[in-house]
Amino acid sequence: MDGGVNKLDEFVGPQARKQNPEHRVAVRCGDIKIGEGTFTVMAGPCAIESVDQAVETAKVVEEAGAKIFRASLFKPRTSPYSFQGIGPEGLPILQAVRTETKLLLETEVLSLKHLELLHDHVDMLRVGARGMRNYELLKEVGQTQKPLILKRGMSATLKDFLLAAEYVLVNGNEKVILCERGIRTFETYTRNTLDILAVPALKELTHLPIIVDPSHSAGRRSLVGPASKAGLAAGADGLLVEVHPNPDGALSDGDQALDLSAFLTLMDELRSLAAVMGKVV
Ligand code: PEP
Ligand code: MN
Repeated sequence: MDGGVNKLDEFVGPQARKQNPEHRVAVRCGDIKIGEGTFTVMAGPCAIESVDQAVETAKVVEEAGAKIFRASLFKPRTSPYSFQGIGPEGLPILQAVRTETKLLLETEVLSLKHLELLHDHVDMLRVGARGMRNYELLKEVGQTQKPLILKRGMSATLKDFLLAAEYVLVNGNEKVILCERGIRTFETYTRNTLDILAVPALKELTHLPIIVDPSHSAGRRSLVGPASKAGLAAGADGLLVEVHPNPDGALSDGDQALDLSAFLTLMDELRSLAAVMGKVV
């Protein structure tokens, strides 16, 4: 058939595309909504390392105005010799963050075992770039009602990405938030290439909220601010940002982590830009 809408249909499954392309659906998580004119910042360290590191970071993340604490206990590292995450020992640390702040918690699940272990301890799940193609895991997450951040695989087309989301949606979980985190290209100065046009492209393909990860795309602290502002300007519904009290001592991804004062500054800059765009951070 003729016409733009039908041409778009070849990129997106029926669950990820509401009938009316103008119709956007916000994802509710606790007392907040992702989408609907707000710009939701989710921030925290790449990995939970200790109670002090987590609580110190969380307090500043909250003070800065972010709503969700990102907190990985299990890390999918390229090398098996790199820090693999604190594991189940991190559960009481998540509890400490809950006691000390009002932040909602999100964490990555890499397997069904993680899903079972972490489901009741967090408000939001994350399936990362490596997990995006773990279709069995996506089916299981689809059978929960937890909001999910689904990250784009590093070599996934938008069609691959949306079909991964479709696995969750068609299994009954409608609370999917898409995250553009950069794709692999020939460029090596940045860790990945932030596909900024993925944001408006996904907006025209799907009703789902879309956030940007400036940290794993940039791979360099100096570029995290510009990538964050580009995400907001491109129409994203929020950010997933890495923040660490001592980036140079971080056990993973220190090069791309903002320190606490840089994060406070970034949040101020985002508020100014959001005001121009009629959004609230
Ligand atoms: C992360 O956000 O902790 C992460 C591992 O990122 P990605 O899955 O995008 O590589
Ligand atoms: Mn990381």
